[in-house]
Amino acid sequence: RQGQKPDAVCLVVGTCAMGYPNNKTGDIFASFTPLTNQCQYFWEAFPARDGRTTYLFTYLDADPQRFSLEYLFEDYFKLLPEYQQIELNQLTFKRALFGFFPCYKNSPLKMPWDRVFAVGDSSGNQSPLSFGGFGAMVRHLQRLTNGIDQALTTDQLSQNALSLLQPYQPSLSVTWLFQRSMSVGVQQTINPEQINQLLATVFQEMEQLGEPILKPFLQDIVKFLALTQTLSKTAIFHPGLIFKIIPQVGLNSLINWTIHYWNLGLYTGLYPAAKTLEPVFNKLPLSSQYYYYRWLDAWKYGSGQDYD
Ligand SMILES: Cc1cc2nc3c(=O)[nH]c(=O)nc-3n(C[C@H](O)[C@H](O)[C@H](O)COP(=O)(O)OP(=O)(O)OC[C@H]3O[C@@H](n4cnc5c(N)ncnc54)[C@H](O)[C@@H]3O)c2cc1C
Repeated sequence: RQGQKPDAVCLVVGTCAMGYPNNKTGDIFASFTPLTNQCQYFWEAFPARDGRTTYLFTYLDADPQRFSLEYLFEDYFKLLPEYQQIELNQLTFKRALFGFFPCYKNSPLKMPWDRVFAVGDSSGNQSPLSFGGFGAMVRHLQRLTNGIDQALTTDQLSQNALSLLQPYQPSLSVTWLFQRSMSVGVQQTINPEQINQLLATVFQEMEQLGEPILKPFLQDIVKFLALTQTLSKTAIFHPGLIFKIIPQVGLNSLINWTIHYWNLGLYTGLYPAAKTLEPVFNKLPLSSQYYYYRWLDAWKYGSGQDYD
């Protein structure tokens, strides 16, 4: 990336510890504090082999004025007792974990060379929302394995041909706005409860719409119909909330998001349409099939239809 400043970062600190009396369930995404230090703190907890893992994470711009990971760790230890209803001296810490995830809007990253292909975190294929790079890799493993195999067997190893293996995915790009709506600029002033209110409302709406809407979202899969239903319901029943979010995320981000949103719709329609042409394309030479299958994968994964 030539030292380019990340478009956003996610700071994560946490521990795995023994001594929690309640360790049967986990939280994917929890929040119990208002905006603190110009950011919203989120928590995650789950049972682990050596006790219970708890994380504190937050989405930030990469502004040099932001606090350090050490500072966040201090807040983690201050807030953990309230989050888990436990005193620190009841816990035996097994290991600590900390890091920050940089992320870039220009993702996945296209390599500028022939015969070179990035896999894993180096490809920037992970969601700017969950930062689950390992999960993203597993999700795309079949697509990448088949694609790399076809590239090698048909000798499609030019920069252009390989770049189709890490295509633009509207399903990934739309999540940028969600991340943006959960963060606040260093100099920005918003209601300290705004992000909590937004999340509580959107999650309630998704829950009412049922598991087919909520579950994929919690698994980092964004689909056009589910997103449209959730946003429409939120806009109809909570229009005030939507108006508050616009100045927070900025008009540019919103316009940019709208383009990805419509592309998500387009990809949702293109995938089944192109799939019906598979018998026709299978009669073409293998090198032509390589291109057909890369576009088919792009439309499938780019619209979250790999979840079906
Ligand atoms: C705190 C934290 C929590 C996470 N939680 C989750 C989670 O819950 N779910 C999830 O899916 N993902 C999670 N991740 C992300 C996950 O760990 C990464 O996506 C995954 O490890 C990426 O694997 P990788 O092989 O692509 O890259 P890496 O694991 O980063 O491996 C790259 C390797 O290349 C080496 N290397 C770098 N430069 C060079 C060089 N010039 N020459 C030789 N070697 C080099 C590095 O030392 C490293 O060993 C988490 C990450 C962190 C930091």
